[in-house]
Amino acid sequence: MSQNTKYIFVTGGVTSSLGKGIISASLAKLLQARGYTVTIQKLDPYINVDPGTLNPYEHGECYVTDDGAETDLDLGHYERFLNVKTSQANNVTTGRIYQSVIEKERRGEFLGKTVQVIPHITDEIKNRVKILGKTKQYQFVITEIGGTVGDIESLPYIEAVRQLKWELGHDCTVIHLTLLPYLSTSGELKTKPTQHSVKLLLEYGVQPDILVCRAEHAINSDIRRKIALFCNVEVDAVIEALDASTIYEVPVFMEKEKLDVIVLKKLGMAAEGTPQLQKWKEFLDKFHNPKKEVNIGLIGKYVELKDSYKSIAEAFIHAGAVNDCKVKLHWIHSESLTEENVKEKLKDLKGILVAPGFGNRGIEGKIEAIKFARENKVPFFGICLGMQCAVIEFARNVLGLKDAHSREMNPATSNPVIDLLEAQKNISHMGGTMRLGAYPCRLEENTLAYSIYGKKETTERHRHRYEFNNEYLTKFKDAGMKLSGINPEAGLVEVVELNNHPFYIGVQFHPEYKSTVEKPHPLFVAFVKAAIS
Ligand code: GLN
Repeated sequence: MSQNTKYIFVTGGVTSSLGKGIISASLAKLLQARGYTVTIQKLDPYINVDPGTLNPYEHGECYVTDDGAETDLDLGHYERFLNVKTSQANNVTTGRIYQSVIEKERRGEFLGKTVQVIPHITDEIKNRVKILGKTKQYQFVITEIGGTVGDIESLPYIEAVRQLKWELGHDCTVIHLTLLPYLSTSGELKTKPTQHSVKLLLEYGVQPDILVCRAEHAINSDIRRKIALFCNVEVDAVIEALDASTIYEVPVFMEKEKLDVIVLKKLGMAAEGTPQLQKWKEFLDKFHNPKKEVNIGLIGKYVELKDSYKSIAEAFIHAGAVNDCKVKLHWIHSESLTEENVKEKLKDLKGILVAPGFGNRGIEGKIEAIKFARENKVPFFGICLGMQCAVIEFARNVLGLKDAHSREMNPATSNPVIDLLEAQKNISHMGGTMRLGAYPCRLEENTLAYSIYGKKETTERHRHRYEFNNEYLTKFKDAGMKLSGINPEAGLVEVVELNNHPFYIGVQFHPEYKSTVEKPHPLFVAFVKAAIS
């Protein structure tokens, strides 16, 4: 067996949103379950340097890695499936590619040459792909090309794939994900869009080796043969990808279709035995056969687009399975909550989660929801802005500081219980200026947080600018709010909780980013458990 790193590219055709990220993660899972080391990378064709400045409505959740990269939400799927951490190197955008090429040009590194898309941009793309292989940590690097073949933006990426395929030979294979639309009037799956999409790839010089075809109905052998014939692929390289009831089913579908086997074959590797997916299937079994159901409310302001809270929704799936429970999430718009209707709207919930977010819109509704949870002893979990709102609510309604607020929402408040750190006050730049990535958190003994984590220190990922204002520390403590998690270096408050409440916890960090199928996050597990009882 060759020792070279193997590179697998995943491109998409026909339409967007076919699930390249899930197919990539599922293939990675199968290879990992065969004992290989695998990483996945996403190349995004937009000009933003990272998705950190994108509105969640545009692009879903911004996922944050340990090293503080603000990345595409697909990286969350990679981590949830593989239980392996990703980093800045796993998500590259056109903006970042151009930024580094332009910086090199300014430093005179191109020695007076004209800087062009080919070879300079494509070289930069190729380096970003190969950098993961060079670490020697991974036997497989799966690179997902964002967008759809034929988009103007993705042309340099497809060109880089063409060059790499030529350079790497047997160490490289290309998977093209397409759609077979179903015409109900004639009861047929249609192959023409797939043929055209492959033809387009061929125009750019890339012959895909494997076609993964999304379809609402099973693909019979005639259609497989037809696709193989028109697209120059082997019949067993036409893979059926039926709609799944959960994304976590897809690795099992792909195992049945032998996607891993054909990939290994294309890369000149032996495909003996089968992937060891017992644990994964045990999780699926629990997911499909819950013994109970619990209603939990997610209070946020981007609830129309569920992708905005992707990692939270997934963390509930992991935590639900551990508890043999189906978590029924109720997405509630914080703007719709008022003092008058909060009881009516939240009365049937067994747990209330207040979501992360930015800006003033919907903030009072979040605070109302927290007041309701605190006073009625409904299990409460606040994440990032949700924790900050819990602090504001407590300040207003328990400490009696009526105008208490976060300086983000009301710069003129006389009680900024949530405020910017001195050092951050002069920052005018938007991108990458938050507290980002993993920071340690010391957990105080005899607290809910300590009992949940079962240890004195943990690390969690952050993405925020504002912090608990330590000038109010004693006031909060004296009134019964426990500050149970502290950043040991900066003394910043990371976790707040309340005595005489069955479950009330707010965290400044984002535990949802670290929940995986194999390791559901203990805070979500404990919250679901509290909601059940
Ligand atoms: N807007 C808040 C801050 O910047 C919270 C951010 C978040 O919830 N991720 O501090």
